[in-house]
Amino acid sequence: MQPSNRILVSGGAGFIGSHLCDLLIAGGHEVLCIDNYFTGRRRNIEHLLSKPRFEVMRHDVTFPLYVEVDDIYNLACPASPIHYQYDPVQTLKTSVHGAINMLGLAKRTRARIFQASTSEVYGDPSVHPQPESYWGHVNPIGVRACYDEGKRAAETLFFDYHRQHKVRIKVARIFNTYGPRMHPNDGRVVSNFIVQALSNNDITLFGDGNQTRSFCYVSDLLDGVQRLMNAPEDFIGPVNIGNPRESTIRELAEMILRLTGSKSKLIFLPLPSDDPRQRQPDIRLARAKLDWEPKVTVEDGLKETIAYFRRLLAE
Ligand code: NAD
Ligand code: UDP
Ligand code: UDP
Repeated sequence: MQPSNRILVSGGAGFIGSHLCDLLIAGGHEVLCIDNYFTGRRRNIEHLLSKPRFEVMRHDVTFPLYVEVDDIYNLACPASPIHYQYDPVQTLKTSVHGAINMLGLAKRTRARIFQASTSEVYGDPSVHPQPESYWGHVNPIGVRACYDEGKRAAETLFFDYHRQHKVRIKVARIFNTYGPRMHPNDGRVVSNFIVQALSNNDITLFGDGNQTRSFCYVSDLLDGVQRLMNAPEDFIGPVNIGNPRESTIRELAEMILRLTGSKSKLIFLPLPSDDPRQRQPDIRLARAKLDWEPKVTVEDGLKETIAYFRRLLAE
């Protein structure tokens, strides 16, 4: 990536997108952040507003956008189950129409385009850990389908624009990522448990808490994303980016209680439908092609995230 590239970040006011904008501005690029603020927030990017190379535009990716850019990072999409299920039709439109519009833009401008895909393309996996070659186990009509199938269709569009129109694509399958700037009401497990622990409210475990996830700190994720963009052009993915350290949701709750020193109680609520039982990335491809693996331990990443939420809740 050459300095002073004009880079579009869709979903740039969100959790991951705002950290990506920070990195790109620090790297000397011009950044155009577009966001409809459905789950993102101005405060995530307000520190960038005074930078001359940073520009922000309220825009919904389901509508066309004509701008001149060199690179596109397509991150626009609600990522938390409660938010993507709030308006499932809009979620599917965001993934599918959003991908078509961003790919059409990439085709016209000959920009490179990155897609934030997800481990959800594997659904409730019957292969463990999940390699990129696994085609997944997804319920096409369930409550999570608007997100899972939307992201799967977006991958299809990326690969068809690549084959048919020679668009230069890069696709990463992101596994559960956490860190500062997650929305306090985001609904995902790390932010929920930390906010509950810091407020001395009950910790809400869904199901028996024995389902597993593998949590990656946001700086590790973005290191992987940048390595993917800087890798030779013929390495297009899809490539898993995530932390292979797997834990049960109950273990996560206990670690957060220990790190916050909270006296909150664990309570058990019904498991949402189609909630995957297990999830762990197989990162052999990222290791081999990108020389990438996560560096931040879950304990250190959680400490940073807890410190962020402590400051936020004190405001
Ligand atoms: P987030 O909800 O904080 O960010 C998503 C951003 O997209 C928000 O700023 C939101 O306002 C914006 N957005 C939503 N719909 C839009 C639309 N139609 N037009 C324009 N903007 C829109 O979530 P995040 O965790 O930062 O996720 C960013 C991307 O990474 C998403 O595409 C998500 O699917 C993907 N991803 C995230 C994770 C994770 O664990 N965080 C895992 C896998 C994939
Ligand atoms: N598009 C856009 N910006 C551009 C070029 C295209 O938003 O600079 C959108 C436009 O809505 C179009 C879609 O991307 O419908 C797909 O573009 P493509 O060229 O593949 O399709 P076509 O224009 O032929 O329908
Ligand atoms: N979860 C939970 N309590 C919460 C929020 C989530 O036990 O308050 C569980 C959820 O059922 C799932 C796991 O934590 O098994 C991860 O949920 P999240 O929504 O963060 O991500 P995803 O299910 O998309 O991986």
